[in-house]
Amino acid sequence: MTPVASDVIIVGGGIVGSSAALCLARAGRRVTLIERDFCGSRSSGVNYGGVRRQGRPLSQLPLSCRAHAIWGQLGDWVGTDGEYTRSGHLKLARSEADLATLQAYALAVEPFGLGLQVMGRAELRRRFPWVGDVAVGASLCPDDGHANPRLVSPAFARAAQRQGAQLHEQTLLAEVTHNAAQFQVRSQAGQWFTAPWLLNCAGAWAGELAAQFGEPVPMVTHHPAMLVTEPLPLFMTASTGVEGGGIYARQVARGNCVLGGGRGFAEGPDKARTGQAAILNILRNATELYPALAGAQAIRSWSGTEGYLPDNEPVLGPSLTCPGLLHGFGFAGAGFQIGPAAGEALAQCILAGEPAHSLAAFSIGRFTSLHHTGTF
Ligand SMILES: Cc1cc2nc3c(=O)[nH]c(=O)nc-3n(C[C@H](O)[C@H](O)[C@H](O)COP(=O)(O)OP(=O)(O)OC[C@H]3O[C@@H](n4cnc5c(N)ncnc54)[C@H](O)[C@@H]3O)c2cc1C
Repeated sequence: MTPVASDVIIVGGGIVGSSAALCLARAGRRVTLIERDFCGSRSSGVNYGGVRRQGRPLSQLPLSCRAHAIWGQLGDWVGTDGEYTRSGHLKLARSEADLATLQAYALAVEPFGLGLQVMGRAELRRRFPWVGDVAVGASLCPDDGHANPRLVSPAFARAAQRQGAQLHEQTLLAEVTHNAAQFQVRSQAGQWFTAPWLLNCAGAWAGELAAQFGEPVPMVTHHPAMLVTEPLPLFMTASTGVEGGGIYARQVARGNCVLGGGRGFAEGPDKARTGQAAILNILRNATELYPALAGAQAIRSWSGTEGYLPDNEPVLGPSLTCPGLLHGFGFAGAGFQIGPAAGEALAQCILAGEPAHSLAAFSIGRFTSLHHTGTF
């Protein structure tokens, strides 16, 4: 079979791989995207839908703020609003110590312009009367929000396709070799693809490809638990989370409340479920923090498979062993918001020779004896 030649092969059609494909195709590069299922059907399509900068480590904020700008132009980028709304993200504190942590964070991130508003109990009651008495205060990021991942993530892939990227869905990567500055990629069905650049955007499954190029990473998988309630009268005016974690919730325009918290479990390498304990835990926490949810019916629960590295930072940027190989994976339960900017940064490495924001903190070199020396 004659190999299909392109400029860039991308493995993985999640929001990271698809946004990289979109940026590259828009710049006139020939892009081949290989996705073993359907684009946006894994983490990128089943996540909670939180689009927030608040709570991220400082290392991620330059990229996260760039992503915020992309989200603001989502319709222009992918042709749909994806139910994206800047509802605000309200992070609740259950104790004075947690409120002090929120205050310290607000101070630390001031240079990034998130505009955080930290408030005590009285102001919280006045502005957000639907929050339970258990909260002693909160921090609001007015321009953070939420979106429907089932609409947004596939839309990035379809937008890339409209710009000329070749999408190969239901195409499992079986073998990769690299020689003479070209990657040769074979799919399980026997198709061959060649390109001088290869992007490893295979999500929780990206470790295998990295290891093949001598860059093993200590990535583990976890499975955040999610549920959605029946439609309820609209009351939740912001997407919410809690300092220290435990639960997060948002309400969509149809009235359903989407809730997440705790972890489900793997049923196999590709499948995950919530489990009864996680569901009960979410519901118990929810009625305490959001009393209007008392007695609400959960109509569906689900989970997904996400990759986590020990420092909860992604691996993003060039391989240190193989020229032309770029990694973008391990977003630790927070890659939906930052994903479009992560994909754009990978594309910039190819188009401009370097990304607009330094990726040094995300180098794969932190897990190997090789050290990052470039300007990325
Ligand atoms: C339940 C849940 C809730 C979450 N909530 C949020 C949230 O509220 N906000 C937030 O910002 N983030 C959230 N996240 C995290 C976010 O969804 C992910 O970080 C992000 O989607 C990762 O995107 P990705 O493109 O790296 O990976 P993925 O979406 O997993 O895409 C990787 C793709 O690679 C494909 N692939 C893998 N191996 C191969 C192969 N060998 N050949 C071909 N294709 C292959 C897979 O099929 C998959 O489609 C959540 C994650 C989960 C699971």
